[in-house]
Amino acid sequence: MDQVILGKTKIVVNKNGFGALPIQRIEMKDAVYLLQKAFYNGMNYFDTARWYSDSEEKLGAAFSWIREKIIISTKTGAQTADDFWKDLDTSLKNLKTDYIDIYQFHNPSFCPKPGDESGLYEAMLKAKKQGKIRFIGITNHSQSVAKEAIETKLYDTLQFPFCYLASDEDLQLVKAAKTNDMGFIAMKALSGGLITDSKAAYAYLSQFYHVAPIWGIQRENELDEFISYQESPPRLTEEMKVKIEGDRKELSGNFCRGCGYCMPCPAEIEINNCARMSLMLRRAPSDNFLSKEWQEKMKNIENCIHCNQCKEKCPYGLDTPELLQKNYEDYQTFL
Ligand code: SF4
Ligand code: SF4
Repeated sequence: MDQVILGKTKIVVNKNGFGALPIQRIEMKDAVYLLQKAFYNGMNYFDTARWYSDSEEKLGAAFSWIREKIIISTKTGAQTADDFWKDLDTSLKNLKTDYIDIYQFHNPSFCPKPGDESGLYEAMLKAKKQGKIRFIGITNHSQSVAKEAIETKLYDTLQFPFCYLASDEDLQLVKAAKTNDMGFIAMKALSGGLITDSKAAYAYLSQFYHVAPIWGIQRENELDEFISYQESPPRLTEEMKVKIEGDRKELSGNFCRGCGYCMPCPAEIEINNCARMSLMLRRAPSDNFLSKEWQEKMKNIENCIHCNQCKEKCPYGLDTPELLQKNYEDYQTFL
């Protein structure tokens, strides 16, 4: 079984981390079953967030009785110190614990630092002193914020999108985190569903000993897939390298990663799925996306009021309204 040391925290986690965003979409009993099955099969690191509706509560229900045997990270999107404390109290209550192993700023638009007047970093330090958190982390989708977080040496861990579609700049960040002894937690290791070969995704990341991927898991078959990689961890083969090269060519450039940071949309367009529909139709079984429900969701693109809120919020600099339009046109042709 591959293991990862999360930099200076010295926390040792299974290379298979459990990303607990998708469990907000399933019932409590099913989520508890999945989480406990993951634990009993060796997974010991679970990542959630205040923003993931009831995901924290599900973790609390599954693990409060074995708290010290697992590593939990959660996140706050607070913009002020007051909200930071409210979020932290809620997370502790939901998780049924009195400490969080890694508490992360959730995709802030700037890198919180002492004396920056937001009071956020000071709040982190105080929470650490009080024993409510063990380590300070930050998550981001922006190269510049992530780079700054590494350079300031203020953070124990960085959570950043990283998969086999990584750019040279992404790889530099991964390297810089290692040089600075910072834990690197890889989100979107399947690029939000666009990478369909999880074995190749795992094998690629296995080359980076200090990187801990968190796989977003919602179904038992997905969990089983990752558990199966523990006994004999996949390593890159020539065949996989060819596949990865093909995917890189197909997915290079400006494509929607499905992160959802551009939402909510005033017209209630499900941007994170609709803006990458063309790719999903061709890379995943297309039947799912041709249902009446999806046809309605895609038709809703007609209601875009071109407020450009989404464009301004997209960390990848995408022209989201234009991308939606293109995907809608392609969808109609595909239908
Ligand atoms: S530009 Fe269109 S898609 Fe984007 S937020 Fe505004 S209404 Fe929604
Ligand atoms: S348009 Fe940008 S912000 Fe919105 S889901 Fe896609 S990548 Fe994320």
